[in-house]
Amino acid sequence: MAQLIKKIMIAATLLMSGVVSAQVADNFFKVTHVAGNVHMLEAPDTDGNIGVFSGPDGVLLIDDRYDRDTENLLVAVRSISDADIRFLVNTHVHPDHIGGNNNLAAYGVTILAHDDVRVRMLTELRIPRRGGITFPQPPPGALPVITYSDAISFHLNGEEVRVFIAPPAHTDGDSFVHFLGSDVMHLGDVFRTNMYPIIDVYNGGSFLGMIAAMELAIELAGPDTKVIPGHGSGVSNRAGMQEVLALLYDIRERVAALVAQGLTLEQTMVAAPTAHLDERWGKVPSWTASDLIPIVYEELRALNN
Ligand SMILES: [Zn+2]
Repeated sequence: MAQLIKKIMIAATLLMSGVVSAQVADNFFKVTHVAGNVHMLEAPDTDGNIGVFSGPDGVLLIDDRYDRDTENLLVAVRSISDADIRFLVNTHVHPDHIGGNNNLAAYGVTILAHDDVRVRMLTELRIPRRGGITFPQPPPGALPVITYSDAISFHLNGEEVRVFIAPPAHTDGDSFVHFLGSDVMHLGDVFRTNMYPIIDVYNGGSFLGMIAAMELAIELAGPDTKVIPGHGSGVSNRAGMQEVLALLYDIRERVAALVAQGLTLEQTMVAAPTAHLDERWGKVPSWTASDLIPIVYEELRALNN
């Protein structure tokens, strides 16, 4: 009953303030306690997983999915903590990670992101799905008000939360978030457990950089570190990161062998170097081996030239 009253009060406040207008769904987000002060919010589509860091000093959110999800996000946060939502970190610029910014800023939340994320939010955004989809420029209220070039630390709820730029991987503005006391990491879309990695070449992404970024994340992790993936169901861990790194090594090795033989891109695609991996990693129709392999091929060929 208390939960229902809270939900109605939050929805009423937001509706009156004009922040949001969508329906609140029951249990839209699956709420999972990851470890220590960190929870993970997972939507039914398993895209854009959100990190919630909470305690007596307040709440810090990592990513906020789409505009339409804000009410449900607030309800889910309230099921974890009554403390104010004070900060939001965007791990990168994609719409399923920044879409709630404008709503949350209106709610009084301070938004932080890497310098490059803010710069890219000053224009419309093109991403490489199916040959290029364009998203409109976000409203001014959605922009991060604090940016960093390298790293920034929060000192909240009795622990340090380190946020730092990863090597160019998914994009060139990917931040990793490391909750040191809780022993949890949120790696944004550098780490997905449900599909091949997306390399956003329109926004500075790099396949070889993704290998460097995953190597760094594994190096920083301890044996018991829990990891929130940007996409994919459930909390992951060191073994999950090692599985993804092994996948990246496998793809690099097989495509490099074809490049070394002098095959063209067309011949490389016909050779299907990831055929043995597609069943596990290539099932999401919007991003398959046919999207990834040309990017890997071009990067490896450039190394040979
Ligand atoms: Zn992304």
